[in-house]
Amino acid sequence: MQHFNFSAGPAMLPADVMQQAQAEFLNWQNLGSSVMEISHRSKPFIEVAAQAEQDLRDLLAIPDNYKVLFLQGGGRGQFASVPLNIAQPTDLSLHLQSGSWSKGAVEEAAKYTRTHVVTQDAVNAAGQRYVPDQTQWTLTDEQRQQAAYLHYCPNETVDGIAIFEPPKCDKIPVVADMSSTILSGPLNVSDYGVIYASAQKNIGPSGLAVVIVRDDLLNQAQSITPSFLNYTLAANNDSMYNTPPTYSWYLSGLVFKWLKAQGGLSAISQRNEAKAALLYQTVDNNDFYHNNVALAHRSIMNVPFTLADPALDKEFLMLAEANGLAALKGHRSVGGMRASIYNAMPIEGVQALTEFMQEFARTKG
Ligand SMILES: *Cc1c(COP(=O)(O)O)cnc(C)c1O
Repeated sequence: MQHFNFSAGPAMLPADVMQQAQAEFLNWQNLGSSVMEISHRSKPFIEVAAQAEQDLRDLLAIPDNYKVLFLQGGGRGQFASVPLNIAQPTDLSLHLQSGSWSKGAVEEAAKYTRTHVVTQDAVNAAGQRYVPDQTQWTLTDEQRQQAAYLHYCPNETVDGIAIFEPPKCDKIPVVADMSSTILSGPLNVSDYGVIYASAQKNIGPSGLAVVIVRDDLLNQAQSITPSFLNYTLAANNDSMYNTPPTYSWYLSGLVFKWLKAQGGLSAISQRNEAKAALLYQTVDNNDFYHNNVALAHRSIMNVPFTLADPALDKEFLMLAEANGLAALKGHRSVGGMRASIYNAMPIEGVQALTEFMQEFARTKG
């Protein structure tokens, strides 16, 4: 029986990547050691690090005026790092709040700067969750002038709510938490001041945060910023001011190579669209299943859905597991189910899931 892992994060990695990592686990590049057992300042590791950065730059077409940082501390680390690095305590950070992660980002930013939420996710007349557009924001001229940045989360991992167009507001730098959507398709990096992502959804193992920062935003960190969170120090030290998560960096590098071999981000994006379309069709075409996100905001990466009778949730999960479909339980704050279908999930996994869903609805619904 095939096994498919729909975990939201840490999530599955491409099988090819895992096999390569396994093959060179004990003896990497004939050094007689694992890549995780050598100095981050050794020549072979510096080559791994530089190659990973170059491959990421190629995949996302990152312009030269952006630094790429490989840091510790995951996504939540950046909730603190962003305000510390690019806002002063008296500045204002603007926030588009579209679900639980972007809400967490506001709460953390409020410790280091002033915050203002321009809009929040809401429920429309049809009972669907959506994010009000810019015409509905509350934002005064004074707030615009005081704003150091505008933060949003293009893909809310828990809620399955996506924002597909980056917000544009004067020249205010846009900061995007792309933890669960980076590398799922092409991106115009120039639309952003800072892009950050924890690795464990769509990049590699946990422990790593990738930060892409426009260089005019450096050199303005608050004086209290812990040195290891300081973007400028990190940039000036090739992300080796302190020891980086070397194994995560190496493995992420393998994932970047894998993405290139798949045909790059346009090709990956088409596959992701096809996977999501198949899953949403199955949900929409069967009264037994329901997704409560408005069409324009449905995530391509995380698909939450509920069963008509929540009393069947346990049985659904048990039978799914028995059929090789793992980790479909929804987040505790939302309930129901959630299928996370990041880059590494093959279309066969979504086909197996949708067949199982149809059979379950037919026999139990
Ligand atoms: C997972 C996630 C985070 C948190 O990442 P950690 O590495 O656990 O701190 C933040 N934002 C989004 C959108 C996420 O999906």
